[in-house]
Amino acid sequence: MVDPGHGGKDPGCIGLRGTQEKDIALWTAIELKRHLLAAGRYRVAMTRATDLFVPLEERVLLAQQHNATLFISLHANASRNRAARGASIYTFAERPSDARSAASARRENAADLVKRSWHSASPDVRQILSGLLRRETRSHATRLQHNLVAQFTRDMPGLTPCARHARFAVLRAPDIASTLVELGFLTNRLDEALLIQHRHRTQIAAAIVHAVDYYFASGTVYLKG
Ligand SMILES: [Zn+2]
Repeated sequence: MVDPGHGGKDPGCIGLRGTQEKDIALWTAIELKRHLLAAGRYRVAMTRATDLFVPLEERVLLAQQHNATLFISLHANASRNRAARGASIYTFAERPSDARSAASARRENAADLVKRSWHSASPDVRQILSGLLRRETRSHATRLQHNLVAQFTRDMPGLTPCARHARFAVLRAPDIASTLVELGFLTNRLDEALLIQHRHRTQIAAAIVHAVDYYFASGTVYLKG
């Protein structure tokens, strides 16, 4: 499941030149879907394929309805510090890895309010089982995250990607390995200039496909190319 962040009434963050995060996310997602389908090995669905507002919880439900194995959410970042740039690749965690990760999750989660249906009103046994499932899913998500970081580092060294974790609502599915990619900072002149280039987004899509290929090919991190 490819998840372009934001959409419709929610533009996400706005770049120095007025670039809207929702557009960068959608354009990159469309490119990613095209690359995944071209690989001939994947079924691909998107949480939105147009400029549409989709609540965060609904995105997770859509992934579950499609029996998704992977959930890849695409976003762009913003910071008051205009020097901040580069990609970050997130997995879910109750405790954020650092202050910037916490701020990113707060900003992305603000799109709507999320019901914690998995945390409430379930019997003890179901909680234990779902805890085990969740732990296994997170280890898969971490493997995908590390593959993505390795592939981004190789293919787009300027973006200096790093692995982080935070409480992103959209990564909560207990049974789907989920990751959120902040593709770069729209508040950084260089990152924004890259992200508005179709060629750069094509490069991103290819890097993600390679990382996904290795996710399914092995249990370890390898680089392609
Ligand atoms: Zn976002």
